[in-house]
Amino acid sequence: MPEGHKTHFIARRHSAMFAGQTLKVTSPQGRFTADAKKVSGRTLESVEAAGKRIFYAFEGGRIVHIHLGRYGKFRELSSPPPLPIGQVRIRMVGDRESIDLNGPTTCQLINNEQRDRLVAALGPDPLAGGKKSEVWKNVSQSGKPIAGLLLDQSVVAGVGNIFRAEVLFETLVDPTTPGDELSESAFDAVWSSLTKMMKTGLKYGKIISVTAKEAGKPLKDLENKDRFRIYGKPRCPRCDNAIDAIEIASRRLYLCSRCQTRS
Ligand SMILES: [Zn+2]
Repeated sequence: MPEGHKTHFIARRHSAMFAGQTLKVTSPQGRFTADAKKVSGRTLESVEAAGKRIFYAFEGGRIVHIHLGRYGKFRELSSPPPLPIGQVRIRMVGDRESIDLNGPTTCQLINNEQRDRLVAALGPDPLAGGKKSEVWKNVSQSGKPIAGLLLDQSVVAGVGNIFRAEVLFETLVDPTTPGDELSESAFDAVWSSLTKMMKTGLKYGKIISVTAKEAGKPLKDLENKDRFRIYGKPRCPRCDNAIDAIEIASRRLYLCSRCQTRS
């Protein structure tokens, strides 16, 4: 599932491609046709991400809200675009480029108030100026495990299953530590690892937890299988212990139980 770095990456990219242009918006699949007509022919004013949500703001306060979910995928095309492939929920056609979106969890037309409510329900987003002190307040008042809190979008927005595993490993924090038993110094380390990793993700458009020094090559040249330290890996890169997988907040979490003892 795309995590927060990806939604911000997409928002920046689509903003550069389309902002200020009058777009033709359709729903080749048919499921968004009526609402597509309500924004088609209007100027796209901005594209912004908040956590895992993306908002396309058209003139007149009409906003297309997208949540990619697990299967949502954008495709970039020329303008005019070729025939759609598969179930294209929404197609936006600009002056020089177009995009198709297949398989999102959410693609809906909303207004400013609805957008504000959705954003207000999210915790601070590290890529949108979210404050450490507010996230610490959310974490330190909860008895749930830190690995579960990191996935809770009302605690901190934009963190998914890969970021939480990589951040907790980098900081050597025991993922089962309840928020209210986590030391502030351990949280500070988690926050600084998270913001750094999310910024790297935004820069490269994909999550990278290893450093160039560890990888032995520039980050832009990394193969997908070499991007992570622990997620989906068999052995700990630090102690060579076998990596464990446990379920926290209904998702599989990878950890090294020998290294990750900090609380
Ligand atoms: Zn280890």
